[in-house]
Amino acid sequence: MNVYDSERIAEGLRPLGYRMTSSPEAADLIIVNTCAIREKAEQKVFSFLGRVSGLKRKKPGLIVAVGGCVAQQEGKKILKRAPHVNVVFGTHTIPRLPQMIERIESGGYRVVDIEMSDEIEAHETATIPQDNGKTASFVTIMQGCDNYCTYCVVPYVRGREMSRTPESIIREIREIVKSGVREVTLLGQNVNSYGKKEGLCSFPELLARINEIEGLWRVRFTTSHPKDLSEDLIYAFENLDKLCKHIHLPVQSGSNRILKRMNRKYTRELYLERVEKLRAVCPGIAITSDMIVGFPGETRADFEETLELMKIVEYDGLFAFKYSDRPNAPAGRFPDKIPEEEKKERLRILLDLQEHFTIKKNQAMIGSTERVLVDGFSKKQSSGIRNPKSEIRSQDIQWTGRTSTNKIINFVQGDACNKIFTGEMIHVRIDRAFSHSLRGKPIKIEPSGLKGESYAA
Ligand code: SAH
Ligand code: SF4
Repeated sequence: MNVYDSERIAEGLRPLGYRMTSSPEAADLIIVNTCAIREKAEQKVFSFLGRVSGLKRKKPGLIVAVGGCVAQQEGKKILKRAPHVNVVFGTHTIPRLPQMIERIESGGYRVVDIEMSDEIEAHETATIPQDNGKTASFVTIMQGCDNYCTYCVVPYVRGREMSRTPESIIREIREIVKSGVREVTLLGQNVNSYGKKEGLCSFPELLARINEIEGLWRVRFTTSHPKDLSEDLIYAFENLDKLCKHIHLPVQSGSNRILKRMNRKYTRELYLERVEKLRAVCPGIAITSDMIVGFPGETRADFEETLELMKIVEYDGLFAFKYSDRPNAPAGRFPDKIPEEEKKERLRILLDLQEHFTIKKNQAMIGSTERVLVDGFSKKQSSGIRNPKSEIRSQDIQWTGRTSTNKIINFVQGDACNKIFTGEMIHVRIDRAFSHSLRGKPIKIEPSGLKGESYAA
């Protein structure tokens, strides 16, 4: 969500003459888009602002703006902790950022605007980036959240849940597809409740409309709250050819007692039922999740239940976090806090178990042929390519792409495919598996125009 917001912020500042730089040292304006989801993310903001204050000492004209969830949460207090900051803008005031920057440019000293609105203005009026050379892009379909999980800060910093109209979402996707985007990931804190409040179409209906967009090959979404996962959405994985075979379905805990204290509004049994149904309707679907360890009151037995659930589901991937108190979130006031050392230990055990399943799943793919949408050069490679001194022969260039199940596949071009381009759909035979990626040999480039996930190899 922050990546999406950052792109809109950058685009909105183009008319003022701003362009991206490759380093903070070269910048006239630094915008820090912050995250408040966990304590650690918030700490990072202030250590980064410390670095920026050094830059400002060397370049007094430098404008520093702080936005996003920490800015929304802290408001003016940011200026106290970081007096070199010129602008503080909130999660709903991105459209007004250009005016705030203009005020500073014309001699203003400081601006703080963190007003929250009842309209979904921030996304409806945001400028759509034109041709940023990307194959895959995010599109926010709703903002805020009404679920109030007891550990979570989102409802307080992103506001009430509001959905964009299908028309404006489709207009945005059409625009970015024109500029070369082939895959979109629809974003919302709980996409399953899309449109309900406003009486718009349902999320599966929205997906069906997006599935029709010409030139778009793949659709993903995140995040899907297990309590609202409908039958219609499950069947969308069978019926919509562009919908990727991957669902991020955060369970958070495998213990009913903890799920209740988290206010997640589903049980372990309901969750497992839905996982089973997804796999029955869409065999091979990749399932990933978020987990919180060390939630207040989580006993060893509760934690064991989480591990047991992981053994039943065998996730393709997992994002696991140590619980941390967040401002306003009620769990901060819950008794029986878990000591930091114990949280660390539980996280390690959980991640070790997951590593076993991730590797097992990746190894099972060896020998198979996968359809891969080429994202570009792999990270390791792109640093080499930027270095003019390094001589890289085209057959050594390492490319990266993803499968429908969102597995990262790296490969070099070979005799079968000797001219690979970003944004192409190619078939890769997998020959090696690691814990975070796979390697393979490209064997065929798909002719354009035959896309969608139902295209037969
Ligand atoms: N809307 C999504 C979650 C968004 S926040 C959902 O309901 O699934 C992303 C993840 O951060 C959460 O799934 C949770 O695992 C983690 N998280 C949120 N608040 C946290 C906290 N206080 N401590 C630790 N992890 C937290
Ligand atoms: Fe936070 Fe729960 Fe809303 Fe997700 S559903 S954003 S975890 S309150």
